[in-house]
Parts: sequence; structure tokens; C-alpha cells
Amino acid sequence: MITKNRLSPENYLENFSDIHPPFENNEGAILEANRCIMCYDAPCTKMCPTSIDIPKFIKQIATENLKGSARTIFTSNIFGGGCSKVCPVEKLCEGACVYNLLDETPIHIAKLQRYATEPAIANKWKLFERKPSNGRKVAVIGAGPAGLSCAFYLSLEGTHVTVFEKESKGGGLMTYGIAAYKVTPEFCEDEVEYIKSIGGIDIQYNQELGKDFQLEDLQNNFDSVFLGIGVGVARQLGIPEENSIGVQDAISYIYDLRTHDFSEIPVGDKVAVIGLGMTAIDAATQAKRLGAKEVTIVYRRTENEKPCTDVELNIAKLDGCRLEFLAAPKEVLLNDGKVSGLVCSRMTLGEPDASGRRSPIDTGETFTLEVDMIIKAAGQTPFENLVNDNQLHNNYGKISVNGDLSTNLKGVFAGGDCINGGKEVVNAVQDGKEAAQSILEYILN
Ligand code: SF4
Repeated sequence: MITKNRLSPENYLENFSDIHPPFENNEGAILEANRCIMCYDAPCTKMCPTSIDIPKFIKQIATENLKGSARTIFTSNIFGGGCSKVCPVEKLCEGACVYNLLDETPIHIAKLQRYATEPAIANKWKLFERKPSNGRKVAVIGAGPAGLSCAFYLSLEGTHVTVFEKESKGGGLMTYGIAAYKVTPEFCEDEVEYIKSIGGIDIQYNQELGKDFQLEDLQNNFDSVFLGIGVGVARQLGIPEENSIGVQDAISYIYDLRTHDFSEIPVGDKVAVIGLGMTAIDAATQAKRLGAKEVTIVYRRTENEKPCTDVELNIAKLDGCRLEFLAAPKEVLLNDGKVSGLVCSRMTLGEPDASGRRSPIDTGETFTLEVDMIIKAAGQTPFENLVNDNQLHNNYGKISVNGDLSTNLKGVFAGGDCINGGKEVVNAVQDGKEAAQSILEYILN
């Protein structure tokens, strides 16, 4: 049965508490900072898409220069606070730390980054001085990591930025698309306010491109436009009855979780989650933490080909989620119009496909999972219509850009998930920062 309010308020609080607790005290942080050997040509920095000077900010923590440390981080990544909570650091900075080569625990870079950035955001430390107005104005569409990163670095140089956001809050994926035990909605709001506190950034909420305004209007009224519209449409599975009651897509499920009290979110007794990316893991673990008795993750390849990281998968395993590898959804079974099962095809692995991973092949065998709820997390498709309607060159909905992130439309730039189809928050932040540089060159010359 799909029902809400399965747990006590205390249980919800416990289940959704911070998965990566901060240092207990300053001594702990300083001790950890002193473990860093400040590598020349630091591999950790090279693996950070925003190139944060990691040894420098760690050294600043070790010397108790916390404001300097936060400034070092924000200079490269204005979402450094949020990224310290949501980045898959095991495949980025921490995965590259030289301590791994010594078979020792890598420096807890994310935890240190959080140690420096959290007080900056909470106390609104003024770490940057905005330049006097350069007389130019830029429109940014989307107040997510790409859009706000672009807005911040433009504003720093004296540009006036108006951000158009379709939701009622900023932060994009950070606010609406990530597991609540990684980052709270309150933190996301504070982070957006902190970014805005530089001045010169006006965010207009509940404004959707193509509905409340047109791209052409912005092209006529601003010196340049940045598109950071993300990708947001869940991919359909193409199987019978997939739009029945009891079948939901992971994006909207996580969105609901992020915008309501946990007790208001219904969850089934037995839930199947389809996919093994980060969104699938976030949906599966949260369904379990909402009180589902059994959660089974269905993935058509094996653990070796999984798109999520080992750390992510371990969270799901520790939460007690079951894993059904080499299984692909074939049909949703209904009883009285409600989900009662999921028929899956048993797969085997064949030759590598375009992604380089061995492709799943149907063996012809099937089996049935008894479930009363199905969450689809088989990826997202770009806003193809929106992009086509605005005559933007694109590749199946992903906006095509040049090396400087300019599009085929004069003065219009783009970055983040809408050009890459959905990468990490930190990649979007970097795109926003790079696009700001290109836009400045465009509007000031
Ligand atoms: Fe410090 Fe590890 Fe980076 Fe070296 S690789 S600078 S030890 S965090």
C-alpha cells in the first residue's frame, strides 16, 4: 500500500539528518589540515572541475585564516559550500589525493571545504568587493548552479544581472533535486542569499522561459543572455502501463520530498527503483528512509558498469536496499488499476556500446517483482522543444555551444546541464564561471 506518515517525527529527523557530519571542533579540522603535504602540482586541484586551489585553502585552515580559506574556495567556486556536501569527491579531489597511493585515507577535502565555507555563508562574510558599474546588463535564465555562478562572476565585475527562475526558490538542482540528507533546503536558501549579497543580482522567481517571457525579449532588452536551464524531463521507459498510479519518476519524487514535510510524502511497502545513477540512489535511499519495507534497485547491467560511485552504492546497501542486476523493466502489472508488480527481463552482457560499457542483451527469460510502487530513474531528456522553438542549434535537445560557450544566437551563451545533458553541480558552476568571462569579453569590447 502506498501511504504517507509512516514514521514518527523523531524517526524522520534521524533518517534525514546530515550524512556527512562536520568536524566536532576546530582542533579536529586543524589536525586534518596539517595532514595535507601541500603537493606541488596538486593532483586534487587538477581533478576539481573548478580548479579550487586546495593546498592553499587547506594551508589557510591550518594557519587559522578561515576567511582567507573561504575566499580561496569562492574565488574558484561560488557554490563551494554546497559542493562540499554534494560533490562525488571520491571520483574528484579526494580520489586524486596522493594519500590514496600510500593506501592511506585521503585528506578529507570536502569536510575541510565545508568547515571554511559554512561559517562564511551563515555569517554572510563579505569576502569580495564588487567593482563599480560597467553600465552593462545581462539576463540569466535559471537560478541553478550554472546561472548563479555566471551571475556572481559577472556582478563582481560591475555588470547588472537579472536572473529569471521558473521555481519559487533559487539553487536549481541543489534545492530541488538532491537527497535531503546531503543538503537541506535551508542551507540552499542561505547559499543563494549569500551569492546575491555581492549586490547587482536581481532574481525574478516564477518566470518560465517560453511561458512568462520569450528569449527574443531578453535579447532585445539586455546586452547578453546566459542560458542555464538544466535538463528536467524524465526519460520514459517505453513499457506498458508505465504511467499508471503508483509509478512516478525520480525527479518529481525527489522534488516533492524537497518541497514538502517528509510525513506528507507517500511511499509504498515494496518499491522498485529503475536505474543506478545518482538520482536512482537518492530516490531508493529516501524511499527506504521514508519507511518503505523493501526497496529493490533494478539495473540492466552489472555492478561493474554502474554509473553511480562506490560510495553512493554503499549508502544504498547500508540503507538495506536490494540490488537486482542484469534486469530490465518489461511491463508494469496492475491490480484494480494499482501497481502490483514489475515484470523484468533477465539480461546478459554483450559487446561494449558507444559508452564503452558492455551492453545489456535480453536473454528472453523474465521474472516478476512484487511491488506496489515503481520509481523511474532512467535518466533525463533535454528540453528539446524549448531549444528548437528558440532556433538554438542543438544535439537532440542539448544546446550546442562553441569553445567560449557562445551559442549560434548572437550574444546568447549557455552552460551546465542544458549543454552536457546532466553532469555534476561542480561542472555547471564551472560553465557559469567560464561563460561569465566570455560574456564580459563580449559586452565590454
Ligand atoms: Fe593535500 Fe592530498 Fe591535495 Fe596533496 S593531493 S595537496 S595531500 S589534499
